Amino acid sequence: MYAPEEHYGNKEIYRYVRGLVSIEAAERMEAHMCDCDACLLKTVQVRHEMIQGCGKASRLLEGYLDETLNSTESVFVETHLILCDRCADEYGAIANGRPGHS
Ligand SMILES: [Zn+2]
Ligand SMILES: [Zn+2]
Repeated sequence: MYAPEEHYGNKEIYRYVRGLVSIEAAERMEAHMCDCDACLLKTVQVRHEMIQGCGKASRLLEGYLDETLNSTESVFVETHLILCDRCADEYGAIANGRPGHS
């Protein structure tokens, strides 16, 4: 059975889906996904999540600032903010609008 050296993390897959990785890295990931259903499935989920992701992220932004999210949610927001300028702006606006944060 084919054993990949390492699976790809959500962040790498997000970057791949957004076309932010180098051509060599993308080719490596595609080769990996030919043999790895788990990473392929994750890519499909990430694509799907990106379509709905902004709504979900903006619902979670307040909780993210208050640090009340569970770890899955905060990783989702964290990753989404790195990749989505729109939500990063929204996050910045909310964070700036709050007193007491330096
Ligand atoms: Zn894999
Ligand atoms: Zn977004």
